[in-house]
Formats: sequence, C-alpha cells, structure tokens
Amino acid sequence: MLLSFKTELKPNNKQVSKFRQHCGVARHAYNWANAIILEILTIRETDKTVKIPSAIDLHKRLVAEVKPLYPWYYESAKTAPQQALTELRTAWDRCFKKVSKQPRFKKKGVSGDSFYLEQGTKVKPGINNDGKRVKLPKIGWIRLHESLPITAFHNCVISRKADRWFIAFKYETEKLVTPSDRPVVGVDIGIKELAVCSNGQVFTNPKAYRRMSRKMKRLQRRVCARVKGSSNRKKAVSKLAKLHLKVSNIRSDAIHKLTTYLAKNHSEVKIEDLHIKAFLKNHKLAGAIADCGMYEFKRQLEYKTQKFNSKLTLVDRFFPSSQICSSCCNHRHKMPLKNRVYHCPECGHAEDRDLNAAKNIERWFEGIFVPERSELAVSSTAPACGVDKPDSSHAVATVKQEVNTKITHVQLSLDLGSYG
Ligand SMILES: [Zn+2]
Repeated sequence: MLLSFKTELKPNNKQVSKFRQHCGVARHAYNWANAIILEILTIRETDKTVKIPSAIDLHKRLVAEVKPLYPWYYESAKTAPQQALTELRTAWDRCFKKVSKQPRFKKKGVSGDSFYLEQGTKVKPGINNDGKRVKLPKIGWIRLHESLPITAFHNCVISRKADRWFIAFKYETEKLVTPSDRPVVGVDIGIKELAVCSNGQVFTNPKAYRRMSRKMKRLQRRVCARVKGSSNRKKAVSKLAKLHLKVSNIRSDAIHKLTTYLAKNHSEVKIEDLHIKAFLKNHKLAGAIADCGMYEFKRQLEYKTQKFNSKLTLVDRFFPSSQICSSCCNHRHKMPLKNRVYHCPECGHAEDRDLNAAKNIERWFEGIFVPERSELAVSSTAPACGVDKPDSSHAVATVKQEVNTKITHVQLSLDLGSYG
C-alpha cells in the first residue's frame, strides 16, 4: 500500500531562501493562471465556443509567454510552477462541479506555502546510508531531523509551517503482519474526553486550543497593534504562527496516539459515523469538536486500519448508542447530555455514560435490534444525575440550557402544586 511520510528539514539560510523562491514561483504561476481562467470565463459569458484551458495548455502558455519575461523562473525547478497549474486546474474542476468554492489568489507569506519537486532518481536520501540527508534538485543536500525510512522516492512536496520546513512523499510499503486474535473495540468519541473505548481505556482531550486561547488572543492583539508593513509586525505575526503550530501539534499528537492504539491492537474498530456538519452548526459544540479534529481522526483510522490489517466499521449514525443499557436487558431511555452516568431502571445497571455508549457501539452490527424508547427513566434522569458533578465545560452549555428550561418549567408547576 502507498503510505505518505512527512518529516522536518534542517535547511541553512541559503536553502531557506531557495525554498522561499520556489514557493514564490509556484504562487506566481498559480495567480497568473487563475487570472487567465477568470478572463476566459468572462469571455465565455458571450461566446460559448472558447474553451477553458487544461493544465497542459496553461503550462505551454506559461513557457511561451511568462517565463521569458521573468528570468527568475529558470532559477527554480520547473516542476514547482507546473504542479501549481495542475493544482489550480483541479481546484477549478471542483468549483465547476460545485464541490468547493472558486479558487482564490494566493497571498505572499500566508501559511500554506509549498511546492512540488520531481526529478526521478536525483531525489535520494542519505550519504553513508544514514538517511539523514536528502538531495533535492536545484537546492542540493539538506539535513534532516530524523532518518528516512526508505532509499529512494520520485517526487516530494516541500512545505512551510510557521518558520519550519517539511518534506512529504509517498512510498510503497508492505502491510504489517499482526496477530490474528486481537479483540474488537467500540469507541465513543466525546467532548469531555477525546475517546472512551469499550474496554475501559480513556483518552483525555488535550483541549489544546482552549488551553492556549488567552495567549493566542494576546498575540493576536499585539499583531493588530503594530503598524502594517513594519518589522515589529512581522515579528508578532511569526510568534502567533508558531503558537498556532504548537496547538496543531498537540492536537495531532493526541489523535495519532489514539488511532495507532486502536488500529494496532484490535482486529476491528467500530466508531460512530457522526454527522459532523450538523454538529458544527452548534457553535459551542463546534469549538470542542474542532479542538479534537474529528475529520482527521476518521482519516487516520482509515489508513491505519489498512496498515495494521484490521477493519474499520462505521456504526449507523442513528443508532442510539448512549440510550441503550449495555448489560443486555434491551432497555432504552432518553439521555440528555448532562447525565454523565447511565442508570438502568430495568436491571439496576449503572455505568459511565461514555463507557456505556462505547460498549453499545462494540455490540453493533448491521440490522441489530434497536429497542423502543421507554418513558420509564425520563422523569428519574433529572434527579438521579444530581449525584454527578455537573459538567463545567461550556461545550454542553446550550444543550444543557434547553434541558434546564424544561426542568425549571416542571419544577415551577410542582412548586405551585405544593403551595396550592
Ligand atoms: Zn439494563
């Protein structure tokens, strides 16, 4: 299977300016071609016979019209602008299919700087086979922070995040041999915890963004206070970018550890196929979920289960995993988000809400019997959960509010009743 590998480079100052130059060339080609396509689209409004150029057409025009005007194009690898044109054309295709918005012009210095290199066998890692250096066309030997896993690859992407540079490439690997008698696991993805597994393992949410948000706000204010174009503003922007990178690193570390644990140690991983868009509509929940990086979680599980020879099962998103009693008595009742413990009125089973849900997710299979919701426990849920500490995280606040208004309503009428 094809796996991609990304690691940090250790370029010297000269190499950094070469990188920046390559990024500049790629950006220039991208913006030039974007302007051309926009122009053609306006012509097409009156004359439908004009064709939208393909990536190859665009490259031909670039070589004929643009390169002679700007000699610095020849100082960088030709694949950098070429790939930028291909990317732009793909972006426009997605726009025509209404998958995404119209591609925008790229600004200098905004994060997301990158370029593509392809020079066949010239890209080779390692002198003395230690794998700690890589040779890139037009740039030369560059040191690395860690050894590369393989001996040669054909193309790579160099990218920048804050002031750090990374190399990414794809390589062919064998699937790993794993023991066949691994257990099945169900995972409940939460807000309070990052994930709760049906075997009782809990992964805490690092809540990186929330932890750093005060510092982030301070740095953001500092950027705003500095004069535009000044070097002090540049310094402030770079500090803010570094903090953003730190947050995303903390997040990705937690998720990588979780997904590797799940895929490596289990023959089947079952997760809820959450409807993320609907979740994100609730802005307070959005903060918590965005903090965990749900999309990334699913993407990693997809390739890691392949790598470790295990299976990923998506549980039907309408399966009421948190409402059913996991001790096989088939009882089901409403579970508002504030109830942190599941109390079963049928069999007396009591369990942490998320663990109960995870166990139900583990039991799930296509066509499983879903019991009718009983009203038995609804009235008892509010006082019963008074034992648990109310969740202080504001993520559940809105949902809680809804529940609270209902409860106070009921209490009011009760009070009136007792007084009357
Ligand atoms: Zn029960």
